[in-house]
Amino acid sequence: MSAPSNENLTEATGVPMWDPEVDDVLVCRQVRQETHDVKTFVFSAREPRDFRFYPGQHMTFELPVDGMVTRSYTISASAARPYRIEITVKRVPGGPGSNWLHDNMLPGKEINVIGPSGDFTTDANAEEKLLFISAGSGITPMMSMTRTACDLSEPYDLHFIHAARSPSDIIFHKELELLASQNPTLRLAFTCDTTSAHHSWSGYIGRLNIQMLAMMSSDYKERKIFCCGPARFMEGVRAMLQDVGFNMDQYFEESFDFGAETAGTIEEPSSAPEISGDTYRVSFPKTGHVVVVSPGMTILSAAKEAGLLPMSSCQRGICGTCKSKLLSGEVDMQHGGGIRKREIDQGKILICCSTPLSDVEVEL
Ligand SMILES: Cc1cc2nc3c(=O)[nH]c(=O)nc-3n(C[C@H](O)[C@H](O)[C@H](O)COP(=O)(O)OP(=O)(O)OC[C@H]3O[C@@H](n4cnc5c(N)ncnc54)[C@H](O)[C@@H]3O)c2cc1C
Repeated sequence: MSAPSNENLTEATGVPMWDPEVDDVLVCRQVRQETHDVKTFVFSAREPRDFRFYPGQHMTFELPVDGMVTRSYTISASAARPYRIEITVKRVPGGPGSNWLHDNMLPGKEINVIGPSGDFTTDANAEEKLLFISAGSGITPMMSMTRTACDLSEPYDLHFIHAARSPSDIIFHKELELLASQNPTLRLAFTCDTTSAHHSWSGYIGRLNIQMLAMMSSDYKERKIFCCGPARFMEGVRAMLQDVGFNMDQYFEESFDFGAETAGTIEEPSSAPEISGDTYRVSFPKTGHVVVVSPGMTILSAAKEAGLLPMSSCQRGICGTCKSKLLSGEVDMQHGGGIRKREIDQGKILICCSTPLSDVEVEL
């Protein structure tokens, strides 16, 4: 499954492409309440833009909370409808980013974004059988992939399993039922932790286990599996598949959980250690800390070793939280889309995914 050929589309429609290096402002056009704690936000560019994204990719939003926090959200919309971006956000109790969006993002508001980026997408061909397993807000990449496949009338043999707390917590429930009724090769199964007397429920009840999985998708061992949900849910799915000898080369997952870290106490600088052999010197001039590191160690790890605790979150070069200025030296940065090319040109790096290639000085 790949994004439609946008070049031809642009030629046909005259709508310019969204260029992540130049374009970075989205305008909110619509807000939809999906469940009691989940909203979908619909955005487009100020002027019409043709967004090029693969189903399953995300955008990183710069949210004006306590200065600024960055949070990534998967595009839940179909990649075959390229003129808008939709994200579907679950309100996390006490979470600064999701609550800001729920309480402040209204039609007409503008927001800065980075992306689209990410490699959680299926390049499956029509002969392959797919199995999507999601829980909670982890449904969003699966929804984009499913919507795209249905929009493009691609005849995938797709089983879609979703786990939720209760029937009323199932995001996109009605739309998925509709898509399944129109697409015979899409088969759905839901399981809920609990049900209530107010809601008639004919789906599964309880935590997903291997017996349940086999009933929901009897040929799951022959399928390519895509999984997304809370860290413990995915750990459980992985362990259960490994236990039954599933070929894990056919298992792909996306994590929304980073285990957020925040700025903390800075310890007193220690004197610069001796430099030897295959090592580089990582200096933080603002605080006077210097660390000697082996090749392959990230600048973030070096900062932590120095007793510093810079803001960081994803550790994968996605979220942009640890963006810092490289004052001198060279690094190898293997980022996942959390930084723009023009920021790199200005000497910015993401320290979580940058390893020194020489002695370096970094401003934290
Ligand atoms: C690639 C990717 C795609 C994603 N897609 C989606 C999606 O489609 N939909 C979706 O809903 N989410 C998605 N997420 C998750 C999303 O990015 C946010 O992590 C989520 O919305 C929670 O952010 P938050 O700021 O509200 O809470 P967080 O900052 O994650 O906070 C969570 C918890 O940590 C606590 N906390 C936060 N900051 C502090 C602090 N400074 N001190 C003490 N405690 C603190 C909060 O109280 C809260 O309980 C995605 C994440 C990734 C990486």
